[in-house]
Amino acid sequence: MAATLLDGAAVAREVYSQLGQRVQTLVAAGVRPGLAAIQVGNHAASTIYIRRKVKACAETGVYSEIHQLESDCPESTLLATIDKLNHHRGIHGILLQLPLPQHFDAGRIMQSIAVEKDVDGFNWQNLGALVAGRPRFTPCTPSGIIALLERYEVRIEGRNAVVVGRSTEVGKPMALMLIARSATVSVCNSKTRDLRQFTSIADILVVAAGRPLLVTADMIKPGAAVVDVGINRLPDGRVCGDVDFAGASQVASLLSPVPGGVGPMTVAMVIANTVSAAEHHAQARAA
Ligand code: NAD
Repeated sequence: MAATLLDGAAVAREVYSQLGQRVQTLVAAGVRPGLAAIQVGNHAASTIYIRRKVKACAETGVYSEIHQLESDCPESTLLATIDKLNHHRGIHGILLQLPLPQHFDAGRIMQSIAVEKDVDGFNWQNLGALVAGRPRFTPCTPSGIIALLERYEVRIEGRNAVVVGRSTEVGKPMALMLIARSATVSVCNSKTRDLRQFTSIADILVVAAGRPLLVTADMIKPGAAVVDVGINRLPDGRVCGDVDFAGASQVASLLSPVPGGVGPMTVAMVIANTVSAAEHHAQARAA
């Protein structure tokens, strides 16, 4: 059996088309959604990710700007930049591109981004709202995965879902979003004793460990929907996910490719959150 591809690139294009219409409505009402991206240093992958987000803004009619800071800038410079953007009326979303250089406490700095402009969903108030079952801005990678599963009509309620990885950015919020949709969820980490014992019962398997080829075909339940979040660069320069794609595609019913699966959906959700933030701003202005 060859799995159907969870084609994130194609679904992201559909999302952009819908967002473009919402942007037009906002612009007609005098509000152009605006996204500010902050990059500290010049981490090569971060530069690529920011360019993708800026391109997606252009495609949907969202205004964007990049704030480039030196990698050795003091924390006060970064906080001052965030503060200025928090008060900027034309900016509705602020994106602090991770990773930050070592001397910054990224988790703490994220808390200085205004909750209503936190389009990454990493502010603890937004994460707390997700825990409480009242989500507002949710982290973009798991939101994109949910949107992808919904687009392919994958039933979540009542299914066994297994998330490999428990990071605050991906694994934990992914588990919470699956719980909110009434899946029975297991969350694995690097200390999990027998990973296969969990992966092999998963109707929905989300792998976000950052370990190339961690999940092989024999670890997958036949017919499962498998979402590969990992992005790993191999010594020969090729990019691969955490799942053995060739093997998994013979066992899974649905499988996301790397690249072209989760990555484009993550970018699309950043833009979606920015448009939502602008809509909220427009409603508050009209009230
Ligand atoms: P992270 O390093 O913060 O967390 C990795 C998690 O995987 C940890 O909880 C760790 O305990 C777990 N883990 C590691 N080895 C394991 C093993 N052998 N068995 C079980 N669990 C194991 O990483 P992250 O930020 O969550 O990202 C994970 C991967 O997803 C990375 O490759 C990253 O590049 C990628 N990523 C992709 C996107 C996208 O848009 N496609 C977005 C974010 C992250």
